[in-house]
Amino acid sequence: MTFDRRRFVSRGLAAGVATAGLAAPLVARAQSATFTWKMTSAYPKGSPFYFDGPGSATDLAKRIDAMSGGRLKIQVFGAGELVPAFEGFDAVRAGTVEMNHANSYFWTGKTFAAQYFTAVPFGMNFQGMNGWFYDGGGIDLWNEVYEPFGMVAMPCGNTGVQMTGWFKKEIKTVADLKGLKMRIPGLAGKVYAALGVDVKVLPGGEIFPALERGVIDAAEFVGPFQDRRLGLQKAAKFYHTTGWHEPATVSELLVNKAAWQKLPKDLQAVVENAAAACNVISEGWCQKANSDAMEDLINNQKVIAKPLPDAVIKALRAETDKVLAEAIAKDPLTKKVHDSYKAFQAKYNRWSTYSETAYHNKVQA
Ligand code: CA
Repeated sequence: MTFDRRRFVSRGLAAGVATAGLAAPLVARAQSATFTWKMTSAYPKGSPFYFDGPGSATDLAKRIDAMSGGRLKIQVFGAGELVPAFEGFDAVRAGTVEMNHANSYFWTGKTFAAQYFTAVPFGMNFQGMNGWFYDGGGIDLWNEVYEPFGMVAMPCGNTGVQMTGWFKKEIKTVADLKGLKMRIPGLAGKVYAALGVDVKVLPGGEIFPALERGVIDAAEFVGPFQDRRLGLQKAAKFYHTTGWHEPATVSELLVNKAAWQKLPKDLQAVVENAAAACNVISEGWCQKANSDAMEDLINNQKVIAKPLPDAVIKALRAETDKVLAEAIAKDPLTKKVHDSYKAFQAKYNRWSTYSETAYHNKVQA
């Protein structure tokens, strides 16, 4: 009897193929399914950081396309193209679009807890926020807050620490805030108002003319790169730096939950990993862009950059605590998010005094 090796091998292979053959069509079908989604943005086409450039909305779409081998295509629409700037939340909720790219603090009128997933005054920096999001239950809470709306969310960008803003006159005391007409939106606006600031809410494009004409005395926008792009340094020379109001402003990727659940697991992983990449890459871009812009503002454009006085920061902190205490008293879900955020922040701040802050103050400075 001869051992027919050739026949054995071919039979073995055939058996293998037959076994694989049962599963192959299912795998092939899942992996060949393609999806074309729409994503709206709260920012206009061409906006650096938000819409174009490393880690932006269009970059996110490109990464998802590349990582999925073209199986998930995201069509990106700037503010006003499909829906107005601040209607992305409702569009995703209704399923008109599958995704929206914005900041969750635009939705505080719908659910106040959304504030914590963008930035709270005197809150955490980029590193602390990421610790809370990815390992401290932050993203889970974000999804809990959006559960009643049928949506899921994740961080997909970060500006890093923002600047207090531009002032025609230097702020030296708390009394200097009284009657000051300042462009400042959101929660920080409430805090300033409590200290006597006449708060104005203007869209980005209207800040420069208002500041130049003296309709306002001061204005907050983002940071050196974005502020210089609006020309704010030509209308006011004092640049107060301490970004107490937005210590690390997070961009939000909002996804319709029903659409999310229809995505195969591997494509869900693609979206999550592309968003995490944009979270880091966009922040890195901001560090480079702001370093360059700050140097130009100080060296070439006669800008005087300095932090707010300690007494002013102390007063802002006390008012922030009051505003947040009122918000958590009104809404148990906000309290739940606040408690998680603040507990994480307290521990992170203690650790940071030994790590990042110690390094910055003792070594890097
Ligand atoms: Ca801002």
